[in-house]
Amino acid sequence: MDTQRTSTPPAGISRILAGITKTHAAVLSWIAPLGCVVCAGPVDVLSPWPLCPACATRLTIDGGRRCDICGKPVISELTRCMRCRSAEVSFDAAFPLYSYTGTARKLLIAYKAQKRRSLAAFLAMRLVPEILSRFPDHTIVPVPPRPGKLRNEGWDQVEDLASILEYRWGLPVARLLVRGKGGNEQKTLDREGRRINVVGRYALLPVRKSLDNTVPGKVLLLDDIMTTGATLSECASVLKAHGSIRVCAMVVAAD
Ligand SMILES: [Zn+2]
Ligand SMILES: [Zn+2]
Repeated sequence: MDTQRTSTPPAGISRILAGITKTHAAVLSWIAPLGCVVCAGPVDVLSPWPLCPACATRLTIDGGRRCDICGKPVISELTRCMRCRSAEVSFDAAFPLYSYTGTARKLLIAYKAQKRRSLAAFLAMRLVPEILSRFPDHTIVPVPPRPGKLRNEGWDQVEDLASILEYRWGLPVARLLVRGKGGNEQKTLDREGRRINVVGRYALLPVRKSLDNTVPGKVLLLDDIMTTGATLSECASVLKAHGSIRVCAMVVAAD
């Protein structure tokens, strides 16, 4: 009798217990991710980002042979990919952490489209050693968002990365560029369309224009996904026109 009473609490208490469990789960899901954004597997409750250890391990940086200019993987002994041999870009070199496929693609979709902002801390942690070893003495300049993006979406993925690199990791960041109105979203266009779409679209912030010698000599543009490199090239042209000597780029992934 007593045992039965213990295992089946009165209806009122059941409701309270169910409520506590529900609240507990909601609080946990808010403060800590419950599933991995890549494989949906369990994530440690203390993990700062919704990524399981196995998927985090799979997200290693490709140490294979890469194109000197765009940083995309190349096969054979070539130092420059076919595309970079025929197309001129204004940046000196780009380094994508990942190819936009598989695990990295899922991660970036979760970050950008599903707005899992805590992934910025993970990505920044992976960016730091590459920035320090490959581009020492460069000032990070984030590629600015389209006008209205902050108002419409409430956040900018590249700015989140830049802020963490600056405030958590102490790297030099200068928000020098602004994107003008007009044009289309790059992802809606083909290669030639992307190139034309960004011409004249970026500029030095007006406040920077009025000051002399504020453009660093060595700049590292920061962006999330590089496809044709047209945006990075246009940003590099603007910076070089204002005095930068070397403009490289660090991107999370290359498509
Ligand atoms: Zn996973
Ligand atoms: Zn290339």
